[in-house]
Amino acid sequence: GWGAAMVTAVALRLAAQRHEVDQVLAPLRLSRADLQRVQALMRQEMELGLGWESNANASVRMLPTYVCGTPNGTERGEFLVLDLGGTNFRVLLVRLAEDGIHMASKIYVIPTTITQGSGEALFDHIIECIMDFQLKHNLTEQVLPLGFTFSFPCQQLGLDKAVLLSWTKGFSASGCVGQDVVQLLQEAAQRKQHLGLKVVAVVNDTVGTMMSCGYEDPKCEIGLIVGTGTNACYMEEMQNVGAVEGEQGRMCINMEWGAFGDNGCLDDIFTDFDRLVDEKTINAGKQRFEKLISGMYLGEIVRHILLALVEKRLLFRGKPCPKLHIKGIFQTKFLSAIETDGLALRQVRAILQDLELQASLEDSVLVREVCQTASLRAAQLCAAGLAAVVEKMRKNRGLAQLAVTVGVDGTLYKMHPCFSQHLQQMLRDLAPNCTVTFLQSEDGSGKGAALVAAVACRGAEPWGQ
Ligand code: BGC
Ligand code: MG
Repeated sequence: GWGAAMVTAVALRLAAQRHEVDQVLAPLRLSRADLQRVQALMRQEMELGLGWESNANASVRMLPTYVCGTPNGTERGEFLVLDLGGTNFRVLLVRLAEDGIHMASKIYVIPTTITQGSGEALFDHIIECIMDFQLKHNLTEQVLPLGFTFSFPCQQLGLDKAVLLSWTKGFSASGCVGQDVVQLLQEAAQRKQHLGLKVVAVVNDTVGTMMSCGYEDPKCEIGLIVGTGTNACYMEEMQNVGAVEGEQGRMCINMEWGAFGDNGCLDDIFTDFDRLVDEKTINAGKQRFEKLISGMYLGEIVRHILLALVEKRLLFRGKPCPKLHIKGIFQTKFLSAIETDGLALRQVRAILQDLELQASLEDSVLVREVCQTASLRAAQLCAAGLAAVVEKMRKNRGLAQLAVTVGVDGTLYKMHPCFSQHLQQMLRDLAPNCTVTFLQSEDGSGKGAALVAAVACRGAEPWGQ
């Protein structure tokens, strides 16, 4: 009768809705074959990037770091460290001692007006922060060697010379690209009459992370960041590094994998949502892999999917959601919260209510599914990248089986409830001949830069070859 007809109608409507939702999300769901293809492409780009002649055509830059070994525990001394390019700018005092590593640090906020202003203002500000820090720690009378964790792509010509190739992650300070950042820092020091700055090493955050974890685990020969941005570094055979002379030993390569796909090789992976996110950034067309994965963009991807679902009347009953049109309103930390295991749907609803989104319980279920879809894809793409790295290392060394440790840092990796699990699971699947251990770094950007600086201060043949 009537009742049964009603039930059937509701069931049909739900099935139709399910089908439409699946159609929206389908492009974000990557098959194992897709991921294997991404892995193969990454491997190919790595080879291109390493080759002296092919480097210009590679989207993965494979930058030499002049770091030729991991720590051996004998590094000693006291260092000033700057950490620029993560969530916060920090100045640190790091002491490498017999009984371990001691640190003091302070966070300094750098407003967007400065990160996107003039290079002079940015480096002047950095010097002011250093001066404040030195004053607070009674360091004005000494000239400590300085390690600079500078988490942007740089062409290094040595440990203490790093030419900025491009800004990423929302930085755009003028007059810096093409310049040596050590020089920019020294010039600012002179302008500010700060005459005691001795920069001995510029270090990417991936390298700092690898080094700090390498201090605890000698198998740590890979560094990974999944935070505001994403990137990886690893120990490559010198004979494969086209840009640097010498055939002996290994050198750490800063892959700059965030730019993977900037040459079009990932175009069929990108969805309309990814294109929308990319278009609205200050570096459109650049850092395309990073924009699929890292914390600065994941919330934006979700926001665009939610808008599409509202448009199709599959979410919030199709009611207009003005707040959802605001760029950056759906932060990646909401993904972490919404996906938290066992979080009651009521709480998901409360998070959405804060965004002035009136969500029913069904809406909350759907929002959670969208978040899960976007973060799962990010973790799996990251796994495909890492699979290419560990497989290359295994083949480099002619091993049937490779055991290696990845030092890892970054807010997304550390805070998201299932990112690391999905990453590790997919990596086991894609690189079955590698046993990969993940070691979370604690303040790798600080410790790592000090460790590299310590080796630099040892002088001639710093890596003991
Ligand atoms: C930068 C890398 C950095 C990564 C993680 C990227 O945007 O290009 O140099 O390692 O973010 O911070
Ligand atoms: Mg950092």
